[in-house]
Amino acid sequence: MSAGEKVITNPVKANAGWKELPIGGIIPQGGTARGFFTGGWRSLTPVWDAEKCISCLQCWIFCPDMAIQVEGGKMVGIDLDYCKGCGICAAACPPRTAAIKMVNEGA
Ligand code: SF4
Ligand code: SF4
Repeated sequence: MSAGEKVITNPVKANAGWKELPIGGIIPQGGTARGFFTGGWRSLTPVWDAEKCISCLQCWIFCPDMAIQVEGGKMVGIDLDYCKGCGICAAACPPRTAAIKMVNEGA
């Protein structure tokens, strides 16, 4: 997150009962996905090798959680707060480059 960017907190508190949840299908405010740290679901972690990376940004295009961090047109890292470990980035990375490897978090 860049400096000055608005921090959006999830309006639904943790462990809320069903009576406290918004009616199904209603998104109570914009940007609520920022308050859900999907990285907590992860069992596999993408490990990025900056030396091998050619910044083709295929991983950025395909990552479903916008977890690939890009600055000035170059990949600079992976935001593990939001990466859920699906492995799509590693599959999308060109085989000759293979700059992302999925690693078991328990290993
Ligand atoms: S493992 Fe999935 S969620 Fe995580 S950075 Fe790669 S594509 Fe995105
Ligand atoms: S797909 Fe691979 S080579 Fe391309 S930007 Fe991502 S990590 Fe780098």
